[in-house]
Amino acid sequence: MGKLFVISGASGVGKSTVLARVMAGRKDLRFSVSATTRLPRPGEIDGKDYYFITKDKFRDMIDNDEFLEYDAHMNNFYGTPIGQLEEKLQKGNVILDIEPNGAFNVRKVREDAVLIFIAPPSLEELESRLRGRGDTSEEQIQVRQARVAWEMEQSKQYNYIVVNDKVDVCADKILKIIAEEAD
Ligand code: 5GP
Repeated sequence: MGKLFVISGASGVGKSTVLARVMAGRKDLRFSVSATTRLPRPGEIDGKDYYFITKDKFRDMIDNDEFLEYDAHMNNFYGTPIGQLEEKLQKGNVILDIEPNGAFNVRKVREDAVLIFIAPPSLEELESRLRGRGDTSEEQIQVRQARVAWEMEQSKQYNYIVVNDKVDVCADKILKIIAEEAD
């Protein structure tokens, strides 16, 4: 059996870029593909980034106990299907990209899961990056900042907090944690 690594990040911290580097740095890592009821974004591939499913299908999967954990987020459901996860764990180490509620639910059933949180260098920096993009309303920025504050509070319960000041450095730190925990 492989080891389970759960990675979460503060909203807007650049988690997907860091994750891509981590996955490229360790070819033995497998990515747990979540199911979601949200629509695909441009470039996202069904079965690779997510299983994009309807709310009815999601409810069926809940009824059939097909999720290790699931949670509602921004009016959509997200969940970790057990089948694909078990299959990947049989073959080696697995990474889950899920938010804090899901991370703690995973830890309840898999106590040996390693929880890693990607934090921004500072909350001010994160906010100014969001404002700099110019495509987000003041109200959305306030909602986002409240979410980030909550996520930062949750990060205290993670096994590791890694600051993303530089993508490569952050990815290297995570790879080092994985090597120490898994090898
Ligand atoms: P996004 O819609 O931006 O891809 O993801 C939104 C949030 O849902 C992110 O914080 C992501 O980590 C989280 N997420 C993705 N898959 C799962 C899952 O299977 N379970 C839970 N609890 N959260 C998930």
